Amino acid sequence: MFRPLFCPNSECGNHYSHLPSTGWYVKNGSYQSRLFGRIQRFRCRRCGTGFSAQTFSLDFSVKRKLSYRTIFSHLVTSSGIRDTARLLKVSPTTITNRITRLARQAVAVHSSLSTEVRLQEDLTADGFESFVYSQYFPNNIHLLVGKESQFWFALDYAHLRRKGRMTEYQKRKNTEMQTRFNLYRRSIYRSYQELVRTTLDLQDRSGRPSVRLFTDEHRQYVRVYRDLSPEEKRRIQHRRISSKLPRTVRNDLFSVNYLDREIRKDNSDHTRETVQFARNASNCMERLAVYRFYHNYCKPYRIAKQQLSCMTHAEQAGIPAGRIRAEIKTFFTQRRFFRRVRGMSVSDSMIWLRSIVTPMKLKAEYLPAYAYS
Ligand SMILES: [Zn+2]
Repeated sequence: MFRPLFCPNSECGNHYSHLPSTGWYVKNGSYQSRLFGRIQRFRCRRCGTGFSAQTFSLDFSVKRKLSYRTIFSHLVTSSGIRDTARLLKVSPTTITNRITRLARQAVAVHSSLSTEVRLQEDLTADGFESFVYSQYFPNNIHLLVGKESQFWFALDYAHLRRKGRMTEYQKRKNTEMQTRFNLYRRSIYRSYQELVRTTLDLQDRSGRPSVRLFTDEHRQYVRVYRDLSPEEKRRIQHRRISSKLPRTVRNDLFSVNYLDREIRKDNSDHTRETVQFARNASNCMERLAVYRFYHNYCKPYRIAKQQLSCMTHAEQAGIPAGRIRAEIKTFFTQRRFFRRVRGMSVSDSMIWLRSIVTPMKLKAEYLPAYAYS
């Protein structure tokens, strides 16, 4: 028998508090669903909102039942959306909708589990270059990774301008497109600043006097560091590593370089010279949020060439295995709610709310009301 644990209305006090198992709601009849059978209805005694057992399911308001596990395993092994759609005999839009749901689960689980980390290591950060919509709109997706654990803390989107060799026609087209898009741009500076903020949070919770952050020699990274307050500068030691150094295990940027390679290998959006590039910035980030969940909580930590540990990257970073198991147990079934998620970073809330602008698609993303609750 299903028992609701909180009211799904985010405006209601019963949405947040730990409630007694009964008494705060009343049963309010039931209805028959073609897909899920008989569903119990409830009503909150505090705000009067009606809801059902289905409101708390990841399959909330779907018209079709699909296996989230199948979609998940395709997504992290370089299948395109269209391939997965053909395989499950549904439209690509349906697959994209399910990935949005999985991405929010992934963001919620990551936010809540990473509050467990008491940082015992230094960090590395770098921009992963790809593009969305067309090659006129390259991007830099910033990654923040544990130097020893290879735990992936954060990802954040920055828009770049197209550079390099172009024909006269391409140059004209580029200038015209970039001018139209300028207002909506999320700069490298702004995006990297978000990673630095996450680093400061991690340092604060770790109890260590300071944390070293290794990056390449990008000018914008230096600017962000220069603009920190003297107190913040004491808490982060910025170490710049030349990108000309060999990219071996001994390189201080090894863990972020390793992740960069894994992303290119496992995500069809970012495979080089492909026709399966992302058309939409928010979709692209959602897929990466799911991939981060897979990398941190499912994939074994790499200890040496060809050798894998039995621990995940998250355990390596100090997150208790029991906590991870408990979250994974309900990952494909129990819907997470935006305002109940603890410790969500700005970058992650941008993924949840689909607020990263896709070039040439300047209208706001369609966002169903339930995304905010
Ligand atoms: Zn309520």
